[in-house]
Amino acid sequence: MKRVVVLLAVLCVCDGVKFGRLCSGNSANTFRTSDSWGEGHHGASWGGQHHEGLDINCNDGAIVYAPFDVTLNGKVTVYTDPSKAAINNGIKMRGGGLCFKLLYVRPDRYSGSVRKGQRIGVMTPMQTVYPGITSHVHVEMCDKSDPTPYF
Ligand code: ZN
Repeated sequence: MKRVVVLLAVLCVCDGVKFGRLCSGNSANTFRTSDSWGEGHHGASWGGQHHEGLDINCNDGAIVYAPFDVTLNGKVTVYTDPSKAAINNGIKMRGGGLCFKLLYVRPDRYSGSVRKGQRIGVMTPMQTVYPGITSHVHVEMCDKSDPTPYF
């Protein structure tokens, strides 16, 4: 079963599936590299764990766009810690043949369809929780695989 999953992922890369622009002010989908809180690549060390997503730079309050024609599949809880409530939001979706989550985004809604390039919500106030971090949308594949080939 695992082999089938890997094969499908490779086919998607071969098809050249690429995320469209995620955030206003970052038309190139630039990644978070290194800041005082850590690094934003897949597999980076983060609080004693491996980072399971890829961080795309996005300023607090910026508009977040659908990177494909997507179907929204519900809210994602990021934290149970109430001190991080300001950024505890995200949404799961499917599009471009992929299943993924966008964390730290406050979506306008949690279900329905959104066309590529249309607004899906706004970036949460990350600086209030992680002062000095490079504010970002965390992109995580539903199977925790590396999203980097899709950028
Ligand atoms: Zn992240």
